[in-house]
Amino acid sequence: MSLIRAVIDTGALRHNLGVIRKRAGGARIAAVVKANAYGHGLVPVGVALAEADALAVARLEEGLLLRAAGITRPIVLLEGVLSRAQLEEALHHRLELVVHDPLQIELLEQLPAAGGPVQALAVWIKIDTGMNRLGLRPKELPAALERVRRLPARRLTIRVLTHLACADARDGEMTRRQMALFAELTHGLPHEVSLASSAALFGQVPVGGDWVRPGLVLYGASPFGEGCGADLGLVPVMSLTSQVIAVRQVPAGETVGYGATWRATRDCRIAIAAAGYGDGLPRGLPAGTPVLIHGRRAPLAGRVSMDMIAVDVSALPPVTIGTPVLLWGPELPVEEIARHAGTIPYELLCAVSPRVPLDVQ
Ligand SMILES: *Cc1c(COP(=O)(O)O)cnc(C)c1O
Repeated sequence: MSLIRAVIDTGALRHNLGVIRKRAGGARIAAVVKANAYGHGLVPVGVALAEADALAVARLEEGLLLRAAGITRPIVLLEGVLSRAQLEEALHHRLELVVHDPLQIELLEQLPAAGGPVQALAVWIKIDTGMNRLGLRPKELPAALERVRRLPARRLTIRVLTHLACADARDGEMTRRQMALFAELTHGLPHEVSLASSAALFGQVPVGGDWVRPGLVLYGASPFGEGCGADLGLVPVMSLTSQVIAVRQVPAGETVGYGATWRATRDCRIAIAAAGYGDGLPRGLPAGTPVLIHGRRAPLAGRVSMDMIAVDVSALPPVTIGTPVLLWGPELPVEEIARHAGTIPYELLCAVSPRVPLDVQ
């Protein structure tokens, strides 16, 4: 048994999907499982989310892993494909394609070749309504639509999406501007549309759409700068848990860890736990960041090492080798740890390293 592991609560995952389903009204759900399902394990999460209407991944390899695991539901490639070889692979595995650049339409137009028309093709046309990352310019949409509608497929599904840059913002100004442009561009089109990821789904401005694309909220975390998933009715899916591998008395005046940056102001009990930046904890986590031991918070003392952290457990009941240490989980929100690290929960969850075994329950 590994000293550190990430326990994945698939019941919580399904609970969160239910909360999202209610929040989404009648919209269908493309559950975003890119980046190893935000560190939670692509395949187990894909399997657990059997009730999602589709799964969405960033890259071809992720889609292929889901298919190889026997998942037959719709899978959307959020970045589409960029070569003929990738396109053939994607279609062979019935992956749905985002098209964000005219080059990708060209690839589709060159398709038929020997095999005749494709049986089923689902194309999600992505429009850039202001984020300036991926997407066709608004003025490119009419021509793109024309070309996509003429693609050689027996069954052709076309959907239109955009991505919001500031859905987590309180004022909603940028969101309203993007929504207005998207509404104008898609007005009267006979196609389903999609705008919302986590922040828009739980945010101030209702953005609507036929499909929603939640990622972070599936895993029970909040996309907002304040509060945590529980405020939204969500349950954290991952508990990152380790254990104490040493306990020592540190006399007042001595220091702990690399750089001797932390000094005991009184006689202290310091527990060393098996978790470090080699496991994905940011080295920048400052002293004072809490971990949970015996259900109580205790502060980090000194720097995060590759394989270890030091925790001041002076105020806690006795701690021994083997005592469990929770880095984050339902009782210690990852959002809070992210704030200590000066980052967002997305980054902490994705950063959990392959060295940390996933314990799927
Ligand atoms: C990653 C991603 C999402 C999910 O975002 P969350 O903030 O995790 O909900 C949705 N749509 C697109 C296009 C994405 O790239």
